Amino acid sequence: MYRVEQLIGGVWGAGGDGGELVVADPADGSPVSTAPVATPDEVAKAVTAARGAAPGWSGTAPAERAAALRRAADAIEAAAEELAQATTAEMGKPLDDARGGVAAGVGTLRQYAELGPLRGGRTLHGAAEALDFMLPEPRGVVAAITPWNDPVAVSCGLLGAALVTGNVVLHKPSERTPATGWLLARTLDGVLPPGVLSLLTGGAEVGAALAGQEVDVVAHVGSTATGRAVAAACARTGAKALLENGGSDPLIVDAGVDPVWAAGQAALGSFANAGQICVAVERVYVHRDLAEDFVDLLVERAGALRVGPGRDPQTQLGPLVDRRHRDHVHGQVTAAVAEGARLRAGGTLPDGPGAFYPATVVTDCTDEMALVREETFGPVAPVVVVDSFSEALKRAARSPYGLAATVLTGSMSHARRAARELPVGTVKINAVFGGAPGGAAQPRRGSGQGFGYGPELLDEFTATKVVHLAAPADGHW
Ligand code: NAD
Repeated sequence: MYRVEQLIGGVWGAGGDGGELVVADPADGSPVSTAPVATPDEVAKAVTAARGAAPGWSGTAPAERAAALRRAADAIEAAAEELAQATTAEMGKPLDDARGGVAAGVGTLRQYAELGPLRGGRTLHGAAEALDFMLPEPRGVVAAITPWNDPVAVSCGLLGAALVTGNVVLHKPSERTPATGWLLARTLDGVLPPGVLSLLTGGAEVGAALAGQEVDVVAHVGSTATGRAVAAACARTGAKALLENGGSDPLIVDAGVDPVWAAGQAALGSFANAGQICVAVERVYVHRDLAEDFVDLLVERAGALRVGPGRDPQTQLGPLVDRRHRDHVHGQVTAAVAEGARLRAGGTLPDGPGAFYPATVVTDCTDEMALVREETFGPVAPVVVVDSFSEALKRAARSPYGLAATVLTGSMSHARRAARELPVGTVKINAVFGGAPGGAAQPRRGSGQGFGYGPELLDEFTATKVVHLAAPADGHW
């Protein structure tokens, strides 16, 4: 059992007067961790303490900050197994996936350690006797509010970028993965000066209290509804809101592609991490020519997945994060069926402990169903049959979200049309996951605002000042 402690003003074990939360293992319901809940007063005190530590860290040479980040990456690598085990115990994903998330986080910290000190401003060409330049500065105090679905990778991205650019950080990990956040914070705190990183734990109310504070940036990765609440809070305080939120990513399956391969891609995109990936496939538009074969093969794939606890190395499909989330997923599936959709695989609540949900394939879906329009965040593939690529593109583009989209096609002109016409941050052609390191995009509409990844994330945590140095009145210094 993990016993989480908060880190406020450089002191472990501070606060927690708001009570205690208990996280249950989503595979069997047994208690995994307890975490204190911060009161609004503790949140305010943590922000004041962080503000006090800000000048020291922003005044530290960029190379020294980068060296600290490199040490952090090494320390996290050394603690990788412990972090992966905590992730699986708290949110249920297969252990190998959790290990992958920790490795991704370590890689991100190392990239930011390299990139941080290389960044600079520009010099400008003004009057001959003047000096004009642009100076990147840390923004100051960053509140980082993170989700549970890939807790180490996502947190390392925000924390690494904010710290290396000279900001102090208050981290509020998800109430569903507080021990993972605590282990990460302990590791980072070991290589940072006291007070540079704070850890606040608790649920939505603690996140809301933090987002409402006079901080300089609120970086939120999580649901669209929360992102909107964070944006509203920032509008009141003047803090910058950086939002990486939900999506309802389409997968378009064009005529003429191999249905076996297409079904494999759809299964991977819909069922990996039990569908709990921000860029998971949330709706499938398949051309009528291959729709029947494609659906049969997808149903076969759904039925073949080995279901079990994430700690079992044989497991391919772990449980959902908890029963509250399972109710949300199942509610969307049953509503779609009530509106005329057809269940082809899964879609029933299993008996037994935990929050398991079967890989589910639903056909005869319409764009109006919440299952298609909204984010489901579960192992569900809703299928819509279309008569042309143009129809698929048009329907895929009609969404309140704009995170990512995948197109499977053998046609270069269709691939180029997709890249041009889909109003999303990321377009993937012929692979549901993947992409070159360092890729960064701005999500659109309900999916957020600002770069959440890549070198551009360093810009998000930086404020640029322009300086004009004219010579004194007599022209001499
Ligand atoms: P969530 O928004 O419910 O919770 C995320 C964090 O926000 C938690 O720490 C939570 O306590 C906090 N929070 C909740 N209400 C708050 C409020 N009113 N004010 C401030 N903070 C608040 O999201 P979740 O369920 O943890 O995560 C799943 C969501 O995250 C999905 O929608 C998924 O698509 C999204 N996600 C997006 C990305 C991306 O890069 N776009 C990456 C991972 C996950």
